[in-house]
This record gives sequence, structure tokens and C-alpha cells, in this order.
Amino acid sequence: MTLHGDSIFVFEFQSSEDRIAALEHGCFFIGGQLFVVRPWTLLIEQELTELKTISIWINLRKVPLHLWNAKGLRKLASFIGVPLMLDKQTTNSSRMDYARVCVEVVVDSDFPAYIDAMVGKVQIQIPVEYSWKPPRCKHCGVFGHNQEKCASAAAAAKVAATAAAAKLVQGVIGQKENGSNSQ
Ligand SMILES: [Zn+2]
Repeated sequence: MTLHGDSIFVFEFQSSEDRIAALEHGCFFIGGQLFVVRPWTLLIEQELTELKTISIWINLRKVPLHLWNAKGLRKLASFIGVPLMLDKQTTNSSRMDYARVCVEVVVDSDFPAYIDAMVGKVQIQIPVEYSWKPPRCKHCGVFGHNQEKCASAAAAAKVAATAAAAKLVQGVIGQKENGSNSQ
């Protein structure tokens, strides 16, 4: 294991099975801190400082049998995000009530409850379950915290409040001036 910067840990695995097992854990919290597990890619260091994408596990229910394969499931999952991997039970079809796919979602994703798919000429809806919806902040446009806990949104609100107060004071002064003019 090596450490990059103050927040990125890089783990190297001896076997690909261990790597997959670790990736299957996905994201979790340790001591209130978000811990994001994702496969290493080029430029990941840069991506992680901004955290505009995150990988999550989704469950797809009522998947038609002809789509229950790596290609079909990846195609379906791509409506939610970039498909990264299927879990073991999905790959070996040992649990057929739902398919579990890890996808990388962008920060402004709307986490739809259904995927609309066409089977021949019939439109069907495939329910999507999210084991976890990561906290995200509209103000900063990043994952990792929500707007209520956002220091930068709080600071911006304070500036806005000060500006409003200044306007109000100005308004009061303006009224007084008007008042004194009319006398
Ligand atoms: Zn924020």
C-alpha cells in the first residue's frame, strides 16, 4: 500500500480475485469520513481531488433473460452511469432475482428509479435500486458532503446575508433622506 497526497491510498493485490473482492465493497464510511473504493486509472489522482464522479452499486430487477449477460447488463447500466463491473453472483447467474452492477455516476446524475428499455417493439421498465446514494453538494458540484454541511455554501450564504443587510441599511438611510426632504 502506498499513500498519495494526504487522502489517496493505493493498494496492490497479488490476485485479481482479491482485487475484485475489495472493489465489491464499494464505498463506505469510516469515522464519518467517506471512503471511496475504485479501480485505478490514469489521472485518478486528479479526479479524486475533485470527486465529480463516484462508483456505486446498483441492483437491476426484472431483467429480461436475453439481456442477462455481460453485454446486456452493461448496456442497461450505461443508462445510469459508466458500467465498471458485475458482481460474482451476477456473472455466474447464481442469484437471478436481481443483477448487481457497479457504475460510475457523475455528480449531477438524477438516480432514476427505472430504466426504460425496448424489447422488440415493447417498452419495458427495469427497476433500479441504489444500495447507497452518496452525499453530494450542488453548491460545489462534488460528491463527499451535502449542502447542509458545506463550508463554502455557508460562507456564500453569509456574504449574501451581509449584502442583503447592507441593502437594507441603505434602504433605511434612503427612506430617512426622503423623509427629511419632504419636511
Ligand atoms: Zn459544498
